[in-house]
Amino acid sequence: MISGKKGSSLDRALGRVDTLDATNLANLVQRLARERSFLETIFNTALEGILVIDKHGLIEYANLASRKMIGLKDGDLGDLTLWRMIPELRSSLGLEEGDRLQSSVSSRELELAYPERRYVRLYILPFEESEDSEEGEARFVVILSDITREKQSTEEFIESEKVTSILLLAAGVAHELGNPLNSITIHLQLMERQLAKANGTAASDRIASSLEVCLEEVARLDGIIKNFLEAIRPQEPDFQTLNLYEALEETIEFQSGELEDRGIKVELEAGSEHPVVRADKQQIKQVFFNVTKNAMEAMQPGGIIKVKVESNDERFYLRFGDSGSGISQDNLSQVFQPYHTTKKTGTGLGLMIVQRIMREHGGQVGIDSKEDIGTVVTLEFPKQNPKFKMLE
Ligand code: ADP
Ligand code: MG
Repeated sequence: MISGKKGSSLDRALGRVDTLDATNLANLVQRLARERSFLETIFNTALEGILVIDKHGLIEYANLASRKMIGLKDGDLGDLTLWRMIPELRSSLGLEEGDRLQSSVSSRELELAYPERRYVRLYILPFEESEDSEEGEARFVVILSDITREKQSTEEFIESEKVTSILLLAAGVAHELGNPLNSITIHLQLMERQLAKANGTAASDRIASSLEVCLEEVARLDGIIKNFLEAIRPQEPDFQTLNLYEALEETIEFQSGELEDRGIKVELEAGSEHPVVRADKQQIKQVFFNVTKNAMEAMQPGGIIKVKVESNDERFYLRFGDSGSGISQDNLSQVFQPYHTTKKTGTGLGLMIVQRIMREHGGQVGIDSKEDIGTVVTLEFPKQNPKFKMLE
């Protein structure tokens, strides 16, 4: 119905709307109404929630799926803001009452309590308005995907079958490597013993020192494999009382060499409150490491990473802002996918690990980005991990 041909004849009719007589106008209105109901049907069949909001968050359009997800009634359009329906979204986006939405792309994971408990991933994308639209009329498309299943799955830490299979493959390879390494070690030790029996000539001394090097290298390979297996195997977090700010400082200290090499500075801004939560220190440091690493890799020498700690009654927000390349709309929906990378030597596992660890801590990762301007990665920590709330 909106094929190119008909669309363009409609466009032509619209172009000379002021010259049309009453009958033709009525025809045109009818055609527009049909067009509209056709599009409505498509949008209402979609499983994803689709909303259009203005820069104040006012909901102008909501398809059927989105109404169900956030509990919006028919008469609510044009009256309610998205913040009203999803209160924690505004603080997650770093907006104060009355602030306008920025024209960046954003991604958040949210827990909706009403009308039904479910988890959604939400994307906010600036609306491409036609060129003649007025300045300041910015609008945004909001897309909501239900991720309840994904979150509730018992093997939540394994994001997809791809990860499972690659983990199995990697574990298999590592295991296979273990056998020849063992055998090499044993033979090297045998050679060492035999050499010890042959008296210390200059030649045997040289061989002995070569053997020693071989043994060290084998031990090193063994270590690499063990670390690798540890890194890819999800582990149960060891929850301890942790000051996130201190963990952040330690991570930045650990990265100081690379930061210096790249000519990048980090500015830390502590909030008014100590961000103390129950968390696994090693895992949280891994999260900070992955996020700052990405920020570094997105920037040129001279860049600055600004990390800010904020809080409200329920949550701490750690915002990692960089002035790097930014993330495109297309790329944004894929950044958490395993093996999705835009880098030559990237692994595409960094953000997936970040997401997994944050979820295990009852938190989430949010991303706001503007191409060529930069990216803000927001780590949200609940002040009280829901896992512990339940135990109490
Ligand atoms: P990798 O860093 O190995 O590519 P990640 O999972 O850490 O894998 O990141 C996935 C992709 O997300 C990156 O390749 C990049 O395109 C994008 N990305 C993540 N963080 C940033 C950032 N701070 N700035 C720009 N792009 C980013
Ligand atoms: Mg990375």
